[in-house]
Amino acid sequence: MQIEFLGAAQTVTGSMHLIVSNGRKILLDCGMFQGKRAEANERNRNFPFNPKEIDAVILSHAHIDHSGNLPNLVKRGFSGKIYCTPATRDLCGIMLADSAHIQEKDAEYINKQTRNSKEPPIEPLYTTVDAMVAIDRLTAVSYNKDFDLFDNITARFTDAGHILGSASIKLTVKENGYVKTLGFSGDIGRWGMPIIRDPEFMGDVETLVTESTYGGVCHEPPENMENSLITDFERTIGRRGKIIVPAFSVGRTQDLLYSLRKLFDTDRLPRIPIYVDSPLATNATTIYKKHPECYDEETRGLFAGDTDPFGFAGVHYIQSAEESKRLNNKKEPCMIISASGMCEAGRILHHLANNIENPKNTIMIIGYCAEHTLGRRIIDRVPQVKIFGVEYWLRAEVVVHDSFSAHADNDELLRYIDRFDKNVLSRIFIVHGEPEKSIKLAANLDKAGFKNIEIPTRGTKVQI
Ligand SMILES: [Zn+2]
Repeated sequence: MQIEFLGAAQTVTGSMHLIVSNGRKILLDCGMFQGKRAEANERNRNFPFNPKEIDAVILSHAHIDHSGNLPNLVKRGFSGKIYCTPATRDLCGIMLADSAHIQEKDAEYINKQTRNSKEPPIEPLYTTVDAMVAIDRLTAVSYNKDFDLFDNITARFTDAGHILGSASIKLTVKENGYVKTLGFSGDIGRWGMPIIRDPEFMGDVETLVTESTYGGVCHEPPENMENSLITDFERTIGRRGKIIVPAFSVGRTQDLLYSLRKLFDTDRLPRIPIYVDSPLATNATTIYKKHPECYDEETRGLFAGDTDPFGFAGVHYIQSAEESKRLNNKKEPCMIISASGMCEAGRILHHLANNIENPKNTIMIIGYCAEHTLGRRIIDRVPQVKIFGVEYWLRAEVVVHDSFSAHADNDELLRYIDRFDKNVLSRIFIVHGEPEKSIKLAANLDKAGFKNIEIPTRGTKVQI
């Protein structure tokens, strides 16, 4: 078996690895690379292989940096199946359509800007039609079931505890009479997170490809989430301000709503209006409701009592752009949850432009923000930020709560990997992390007694 690391190698986005075995080519993830515009454009448009030669894709979860280039893969000739869990299939149904819409709008905007220049018009990376064709190829397989991709190649999903439907992937292949096993962690979640279950053990493997987003970093425990919310509410309401939350539509928004509902129900939080201003988040919340098979016991218990963990007095789901604009006129304290989480696109940009210069307001960051994004500049508290080409003073209070993170921290990554038998696990490849994070995880794994730990660069091919 050969593995080639083609994305999320020494970086966090664009997850994509190519497995070659028994004459078959299988992609693990087909994510969108996000970063500097020109580089992202180049990387996403041009695959480092012929898409027609790929036989199948196995998808770890629905986040766009893992699934977002699937419509382009299909557009460029891939004709096989895309395997994922049932919840991932449903989430991809809305997320890929949303992503296509953004691509079309972006291309339209750029073409308008360059209308009078000699630049030829650009095509969107993919269209809504391409997304629909890709969505049609999604083939759902439940957790903990072995499924045959081809002769001598079997796969299995186990719960990665990251977002609804997220999976680690175990591949078992037979080559020349020998059985070989490879595990791909996908994005690893945390123990004790709301709604979904804790990360599961996939069983022993000889080779492990693991993420390292927060290697060497220690998060606040998930229990701190609620206390952080209470103090932020008190301070911001005390000065009659608004709380603006850039949040990923899938995962962070539902976790936050779940915690808010619990706090309101027990009168631990003053009731202010909560606006969820992201049509994608609204649709994703509906899909969360459809997949109780992914819930942990606490959430299943709540649903058994016929309660809706995401719907409660005071929460308003905003759909139209007009309703969204009307939020600008609200004077009373409120919370506005909007996407994108890294503040790179979407309605959150309008809310930031309107609220960032008012010191009464709070910007609450609850998710990972990659380098070079507006979200990261806000976390770094740079004095001035550019939104829609206009400079704004960053005068609002900024709070960063990593207790909401959906990614395992250093100790949780070690806890995930420590379950593997060191007599079986003979090689570890660290991916999906900025280099210093991956290096720290490698050092900690070495200290824990694991051997043959490598941090591959993009394009590295390894025989296993
Ligand atoms: Zn993810």
